[in-house]
Amino acid sequence: MSSVLVVRNLKKVYGKKKPFTAVDGISFSLEEGEILGLLGPNGSGKTTTIQMLLGTLSITEGEVLYFGKDFVRHRSEILESVSFASTYTSLPGILTVEENLEVIGRFYGLSPSESERRYDPLLERFGILEKKKKRVGSLSAGQMTRLMLVKAFFTQPKVVLLDEPTASLDPDMAQEICQFLLEQREKNGLSILFTSHKMAEATKLCDRAIFLRDGKIIANDLPMNLAKSTGGFRLRLLIPDGMKRATAIAEERKFSHTVEHRTIEISLDEREISSFLTALGKAEVQYANIRIEEPSLENYFLQISRRKK
Ligand code: ADP
Ligand code: MG
Repeated sequence: MSSVLVVRNLKKVYGKKKPFTAVDGISFSLEEGEILGLLGPNGSGKTTTIQMLLGTLSITEGEVLYFGKDFVRHRSEILESVSFASTYTSLPGILTVEENLEVIGRFYGLSPSESERRYDPLLERFGILEKKKKRVGSLSAGQMTRLMLVKAFFTQPKVVLLDEPTASLDPDMAQEICQFLLEQREKNGLSILFTSHKMAEATKLCDRAIFLRDGKIIANDLPMNLAKSTGGFRLRLLIPDGMKRATAIAEERKFSHTVEHRTIEISLDEREISSFLTALGKAEVQYANIRIEEPSLENYFLQISRRKK
């Protein structure tokens, strides 16, 4: 695999009087045909990073290379193959959907009819074909998000950057978009960098996940590895009576656990669950409300969000 995007020591400092470092020297790469998730809590620097990678925000320090070329020096050439969609940006509201797409098509050297041939199937797929002759200003937030995705894909880019692509969509449309992104990668070998705070979605989409926190990369790994790093499975039991015996059994087996009121939460391997429950039974500990959680990116996300600075 070759890298389509390489980021080295990228940094963004906002403001002069009271400088604030929003992105603090991050380095990573996006490989050809890869779907990479840029994840992290609110304010961790995801949008700032994406905007610097698009040139819509100036870079304070660092280097960005697309296809091995320096982004600052080859910007217009690079942007012919890089596109973008975000829930937080829009298109001129006074123009209709088709006028907007036609204008964008022209930037990419497409005739109006060629543009139409490409965007019509996408408008249809995302359920906004009947909005084609409507002004963009009249679209709902969700329709706007879908139009931005059409905009990002009809010019047949090599790299797509998406900032919270499904944030304002209903679950069924969000799922459709995920399906579409996976197909695009499959069919066209597209490379996608996307931000999200929906971990279930990220788990489905990402080949690899980067977690940002306070502008720094704190993890760069396969989603499964990150999920597992939270300590395997989690077993939660309500124990009205006999909590002392239960914690003794957990300690004996060296399971890390927390107790809150009458609930115990234990981290353990999947295959240790049944023997632990059997041991409780033998010690005549009654339990109820069994909950078993698989290792998930959601847990990882919660863990890093709660972690003290
Ligand atoms: P995310 O997309 O991960 O939620 P952002 O990149 O939007 O995070 O923001 C990162 C940090 O930078 C936040 O603390 C935010 O308040 C701050 N920030 C964003 N934009 C500006 C700006 N224009 N001026 C000053 N600070 C900003
Ligand atoms: Mg953001």
